[in-house]
Amino acid sequence: MANEPEILKPEISEKRDVAPNTAKFDIDEIWKIVCENVRLYISPRDYKTWFKGVFLEKVENGIAELSCDRSFQREYLEQYHRGLITRSLSQATGQRIELTIKIRSSVNNSTPKTIQEVKVGQDGSFNIFSEVQDKIVEGKDKLARQAQLNPKYLFSNFIVGTHNALSHAVAESVVKELGTLYNPVFFYGPTGVGKTHLMQAIGNEVINNYPDKKVVYVPIEQFLNELIESIRTRTNEKFRKKYREIDLLIIDDIQFVETYPKTQEELFHTFNTLYQSNKQMIMAADRPPKEIKNITDRLRSRFSGGMVADLQAPDYETRMAILQQIAAEQNTTLDRETVELIAKNVENNVRELEGAAIKIISMRRLGQEVNLEQVAKTLQLDLESKRKRIKPERIMDVVCEIFDVTPRDIKGKRRTAYLATTRQVIMYILRNELGLPLERVAREVNRQDHTTVLHACEKIEDMMEKDSRFKDKIETCKSRLG
Ligand code: ADP
Ligand code: MG
Repeated sequence: MANEPEILKPEISEKRDVAPNTAKFDIDEIWKIVCENVRLYISPRDYKTWFKGVFLEKVENGIAELSCDRSFQREYLEQYHRGLITRSLSQATGQRIELTIKIRSSVNNSTPKTIQEVKVGQDGSFNIFSEVQDKIVEGKDKLARQAQLNPKYLFSNFIVGTHNALSHAVAESVVKELGTLYNPVFFYGPTGVGKTHLMQAIGNEVINNYPDKKVVYVPIEQFLNELIESIRTRTNEKFRKKYREIDLLIIDDIQFVETYPKTQEELFHTFNTLYQSNKQMIMAADRPPKEIKNITDRLRSRFSGGMVADLQAPDYETRMAILQQIAAEQNTTLDRETVELIAKNVENNVRELEGAAIKIISMRRLGQEVNLEQVAKTLQLDLESKRKRIKPERIMDVVCEIFDVTPRDIKGKRRTAYLATTRQVIMYILRNELGLPLERVAREVNRQDHTTVLHACEKIEDMMEKDSRFKDKIETCKSRLG
């Protein structure tokens, strides 16, 4: 840490003290802590590119105001780092913080910068204070944003091993021969193995190489929600136009189409239109097309009609390589024993691998000695909490058993008071124990409207407060889940 390049140090503006509510904060000290924390979570390249010239101006009445120089910088921070900055600010100040980001009005706007000032660091970070570079970054960033792509998912940081070699090769060739070689491409594999990363890398690469191609990345749920909305507001034409004039359409988590049988027709037509005009479609799901239920044969055969490629959990060697890359992105290294220990214990998911590595790195950054035994302990704790991760079906089964009804009753239309309450208990537990999104909770009990879930949670909380026997029953349900 002592030899860090100057640029990585947080920007410190003139000293200012600010009194939020009653506590007195040293604003620069707080910003320093926040920057240190942010750096634990994002790559040094991102940090240099996006946090240079960002200052904390004040913290007042729970509102923190940041300032930066460029509007696209603000938009980027808003879109990708808002949560991280807000959390870090809350930690550093010990209060709940709401974030606002302003553009500083520049005093020197009249002195244009020259091209010679454009600098791209050896690690690829941009000097975002150069105007020419601004335009390039702004242009590409805007395209990525319009396409709903996360610019951090790239080929260059996607590690290839035997578990994903075929999919990676397919992805690379698709970029070169968009719409003509394999169409559609269907990636499948369990969660956390890199499907989204790979598909977005394709999108980013296409935007980078052919800025005039129109790319859209969309989770299937968004696609279908937009479709339903367009039917409701009679704007189908607009919807069709949007999705049928695309050069590369990337649809993620396509298995969820199972739950929207009625919208398959439109998906099929979008599909055909794109296909017939040699436009590329890429999809990902957690299972192969033949295992997706409730879809029409013609949709299924469309899905399987191009290239179907799978991604598996990475093998041991690849897990080690991924861990080393994560450390490098965090501007640090992990010793061999630690890498081996994590790679041995976290086997089936790159997301968890990342989580474990970042945790160890953060602990060390915060000055803790983390020996092998402690690494093992940290991993063990994680594994235990993983075991506790409960499936929604389990909640359905346990509550049904204790309330003596069947899942069919729950998902059905009958509305006796008792059934309605049981249904609400299930929604409450799904929401509170698993933290599932409202729409998903509604779907689990075969309901459409997410406000039903909000209402259910309020009602159950209320009943638990008023009736201790009812509360005990809910606690019994919860204790049986694990
Ligand atoms: P999925 O969509 O299959 O659930 P993601 O693409 O979201 O998985 O990957 C989970 C995390 O693991 C992401 O942060 C991603 O960048 C990372 N990741 C997955 N596979 C790789 C890989 N081969 N190389 C580098 N990072 C990876
Ligand atoms: Mg994904």
